[in-house]
Amino acid sequence: MKLSPYWQTAPQPIPALEREWVEGLLAAMALAPDTRDDYTNQPVGMICGIARPEYGPAIYDLQCQICEATWSGIPGDPCWWCERSIEIQLEHQAELLLTPPDVDRDDINYEAKMRGWSERLARGVKAEIITEQQARNASRAADRRAV
Ligand SMILES: [Zn+2]
Repeated sequence: MKLSPYWQTAPQPIPALEREWVEGLLAAMALAPDTRDDYTNQPVGMICGIARPEYGPAIYDLQCQICEATWSGIPGDPCWWCERSIEIQLEHQAELLLTPPDVDRDDINYEAKMRGWSERLARGVKAEIITEQQARNASRAADRRAV
C-alpha cells in the first residue's frame, strides 16, 4: 500500500479521547487569564512554561513574580513560598510587638513608653498582626511584671 502524503489524506474525525484532550486544552487556553498587568510585582504565579493538561484544565507551569519559585497551577495563584515568608515576617512582627518596652517603673518615661506600646498593640490588633487576646495577655503580663 502506498502511503499518500499527509496533505492528501482526507481529514479524519478526532477520536473521542483525543477530542476530550483537545477540548481540555482549548478550555485551558480560554481560561488562561491575560493578567500580567494586574499581577505585576505581586506574589503570584504567572505562566512561565507550558500548559499541563495532565494535571487538569487551566494548569500551567508557573513562576512567582517575586521569589521566582516555580510550580504547576492556575495562573494568578498565590505563591506558597511568599505567603509563608510573609507569615514568618508577621510572626516575627507579632513577637516584637508583644514584647513590652524595656523600661523601669521608676523611669521618668515609663508612662509615655507604656502608653506608646499600648497604642502599638491596638494598631497591631487592627492590622490583624496579633489578636485582641494576645494584646490583653501581653499587657497584663507587663503590668504584673512592673508591680
Ligand atoms: Zn513567591
